Amino acid sequence: ARAAAADAPVGPGALADGTPIPLLANLGSTDGALPAVEKGAEGVGLFRTEFLFLDSDKAPTVAEQQEKYTQLLTAFAGKKVVVRALDAGADKPLSFLNDEPEENPALGLRGIRALRANEPILRDQLTALANADAVTDADLWVMAPMVSTVEETRYFTKLARELGIKTAGVMIEVPAAALLADRILPETDFASIGTNDLTQYTLAADRLLGSVASFQDPWHPAVLRLVGEVGRAGVTAGKPVGICGEAAADPLLAVVLVGLGATSLSMSAAALADVRTELARYTLAQTQEFAEIALSANSAVEARVAVTAAANSLT
Ligand code: PEP
Ligand code: MG
Repeated sequence: ARAAAADAPVGPGALADGTPIPLLANLGSTDGALPAVEKGAEGVGLFRTEFLFLDSDKAPTVAEQQEKYTQLLTAFAGKKVVVRALDAGADKPLSFLNDEPEENPALGLRGIRALRANEPILRDQLTALANADAVTDADLWVMAPMVSTVEETRYFTKLARELGIKTAGVMIEVPAAALLADRILPETDFASIGTNDLTQYTLAADRLLGSVASFQDPWHPAVLRLVGEVGRAGVTAGKPVGICGEAAADPLLAVVLVGLGATSLSMSAAALADVRTELARYTLAQTQEFAEIALSANSAVEARVAVTAAANSLT
């Protein structure tokens, strides 16, 4: 019976009232594609392209990238694939993009800032993605990392469209971008919230530093309030708002994120089954009640305890 259950087709993510919440995979290599599909990923919500080139000392060519992106899009034919432009800097340095040493690399020339300072590299990547898209039939979306201004949103969206990308968006992982989401979303096609960096920057606690690891908790009501800002802006602008940070892999927090306005969730493939099961227990109205409960807590711990109690009282 166990084997039969494992082989059973996995349905799409949905709430108890039928509201679809697509469940997508975070990937850093094309090797991860097949296992993710087997675990029921409905597509890719974050493909971390910088992982492909961590060991390269020079920028990859268009042809080299095109081959990798074609492999990825082929594995997800007919499905949505959100590819992130190179997110170089801090925890993911790329020698061909981050050449100056920095004292505070998390606050430095990283993400879209580094790409902009090296625009030919960004152009090559977008061209390779558009070329791969033209010969495959996945639904390719491309997003910029570490956006902190409306102007960067305009810059990236315009350039991506010029180079043949049909759906261009931005990551919201800097508090400034979350606070101005109502101005950012009208300028682009979608947003995806990176809760790892959003938590790091909201709590001013280096995500790589063990001594402040307890601050890196996306249940913190300040982080959730920012997520709620983006969710509201998405509804107003009629644009999708995904989540692609680790928070989406915590089943009960995933429910809260949906209550705050997330329209899809992306996570490591191993987390998909538990999140799918948890989401199916609640209606959209219940997820919104949980979100209110979490927002009114004073700390991450209080938020988690209060939402857990509310969930237990329903079952
Ligand atoms: C994030 O910051 O939440 C995110 C998804 O990106 P990364 O973890 O790669 O910085
Ligand atoms: Mg990030």
